[in-house]
Amino acid sequence: MIHNPEMECMSREDMTKLQTERLIKTVKTCYEKVPFYRKKMDKMGVKPEDIKSIEDIHRLPFTTKHDLRDEYPFGLQAVLHSEVRRIHASSGTTGKPVVDTYTENDLEMWAEGAARVMAAGDVGPGDTVQVSYGYGLFTGGLGAHDAAAMRGAVQLPTSAGNSEKQIMLMKDFGSTVLACTPSYALHLAECIDKSDKVNIEDMKLRVGFFGAEPWTEGMRKELEEKLHIKAIDIYGLTEMCGPGVGGECECQNGTHLWEDLFYPEIINPDTLEPCAPGEFGELVFTSLKKEAMPILRYRTRDLTRLIYEPCKCGRTAVRMDRILGRSDDMLIIRGVNVFPSTIEAILTEFPVYSPQYFITVDRKDNEDMFDLDVELREEYFSPNPSKQMPYIKPLYDRIVSVIGIKPNIHILPPNTIQRSMGKAKHVNDKRKF
Ligand code: ADP
Ligand code: ZN
Repeated sequence: MIHNPEMECMSREDMTKLQTERLIKTVKTCYEKVPFYRKKMDKMGVKPEDIKSIEDIHRLPFTTKHDLRDEYPFGLQAVLHSEVRRIHASSGTTGKPVVDTYTENDLEMWAEGAARVMAAGDVGPGDTVQVSYGYGLFTGGLGAHDAAAMRGAVQLPTSAGNSEKQIMLMKDFGSTVLACTPSYALHLAECIDKSDKVNIEDMKLRVGFFGAEPWTEGMRKELEEKLHIKAIDIYGLTEMCGPGVGGECECQNGTHLWEDLFYPEIINPDTLEPCAPGEFGELVFTSLKKEAMPILRYRTRDLTRLIYEPCKCGRTAVRMDRILGRSDDMLIIRGVNVFPSTIEAILTEFPVYSPQYFITVDRKDNEDMFDLDVELREEYFSPNPSKQMPYIKPLYDRIVSVIGIKPNIHILPPNTIQRSMGKAKHVNDKRKF
């Protein structure tokens, strides 16, 4: 089901016109209301009048996470505080959190972005959407909540955590939709598996919206099989609004980005030049409709590519490929670039392993050590190490062939790797650079 056919299925020509109109307005606001942007544009010798079409976007300055931290908390705000209705902030594991503020219209726009994704999973009246993303400053909880409201569904704000109760409510209230991080969905699925009180057959779940962290096709298969659902990818980031900047459609062949709201570009992160169409690079967004904190050419650090071929679903909005990872999550081990999600992709090729893993990187005698904790599934695990040997070799060989470095694999008993309620932490990098 398409939530807003006018915007989601607009012809390329009309979309370019709309983007141009909205970009011109956004740039004018940024220049007039946000000293940070005025200074940057003056320094580059660009005036709002120079931006005549969406193609001129390349003349505008970039915005980085660093800039957002420097302008903490409200330096990028373009409206009076009396027009602001809500404030969110991203986790900000290092330094100050990144803040986003929203006017009434911004909240509506955000809800619509996420509602478009939920519509692709046919969410509507009669559905009960269990929102197991954390509620709070994190955008996941309230983002999914407002989208469910816009779709006319029942909102069940369980937030993350307290998994036994979540599962009881899921069954007793007949939740049909689950929204949470894929890692928390996996944890809930494992809890249902282990439970002697509930069975997945007792649940009415039919669809899940998973995002806020990278996940793989293998994880999709695992979640769909374990939870008896269709698993849909939803993408977003606090700097644009939160979840719902884009999402998968019925065809599940990429994530449609809502181009009428956020203009996407792919750039080479080293040269900052645009990539050729279809090439992988860093995703950059310019907000086209945000009022409280408009943002020009924000460097997401997410690595992906854009697909402009039309999609069979009828939506014309550009699609992006699965995100390889964030450039700052990428590990360099013995000179080789490793995205943690590659390990998840490999593990899910092996039915004997659960998709849970933890990577520890350290340096001994000037050499990088790459330790990988994995779990065999209950039915394959044995405390006797010699019985595990036949399972280690194929995994070891596959990792060496895909990423080219030799891991020290440690098989742990089932359910011992730390589970996550929100975004999973998969890496401990102990090296001092
Ligand atoms: P933080 O930066 O603190 O993690 P956010 O919640 O704003 O705060 O995180 C946004 C980031 O999460 C995105 O830039 C992207 O890296 C990741 N992300 C969000 N949704 C997805 C998704 N569906 N697939 C892969 N990565 C995602
Ligand atoms: Zn589509």
